Amino acid sequence: MEKTETHSGIDLAARYDDLEVDQARHVRIVAPAAGIGLHVYEMPSGMGADSILVLIQMNDYWFLPMTFEPQSTDAATNALQRASMAVDLPDLGCSAGCYFPMQIAKGEWIGDLIVRNVMPDAYPHIHYSLLYKSPDQTLEDAFANNLEIARNQGTGMPPTSGLGSPVSPTELAGTPTTFYCPYEYSSAAAKTIMDNTVMLSVGGAVCSCACAYNSEAGDCGVCP
Ligand SMILES: [Zn+2]
Repeated sequence: MEKTETHSGIDLAARYDDLEVDQARHVRIVAPAAGIGLHVYEMPSGMGADSILVLIQMNDYWFLPMTFEPQSTDAATNALQRASMAVDLPDLGCSAGCYFPMQIAKGEWIGDLIVRNVMPDAYPHIHYSLLYKSPDQTLEDAFANNLEIARNQGTGMPPTSGLGSPVSPTELAGTPTTFYCPYEYSSAAAKTIMDNTVMLSVGGAVCSCACAYNSEAGDCGVCP
């Protein structure tokens, strides 16, 4: 079957079905790698609720997108989510993007995911991805049409270490701005954690890989 990764990342879901109405759980979220700035975009989630996309800028080419998705339509919950980030979001919002130049250490707190009053048929989570930005385009241009950003299909990936990798970046000639599965670029320790976590496709079927290629119809697809 052809691989068609449309999801562009991994949903790291938080426990939520044990809470009472209006009871909140704060889930501490830290930076997976060091960065030189945070870019924030506020936008509707795929379920139509509010979400906050935080891109940790690693260098000129590579970013770690982490979308805080409480999946709640409750205004108080979404206000609490906005107030629970490591940076102060302006009252006017960040729909066109906000930039916070700052040094971020690996493991540093970037915000709490708020688990409270979750909408039906949704799960609160961090959408975790990896982005290569082509120098042909600004980040603002890319996220003005974020659904148009290319999704890597698990083949032809940049190196995971050494020259051209996210930690030793170069321009990848001919590669457009592209989302990659963060699993392949994770440490052995992080991979072990993911390997020992129950992995589900969008349809609820148990998968054997963190990025479920072709997962939309409950088919876990093919792991590279
Ligand atoms: Zn997602």
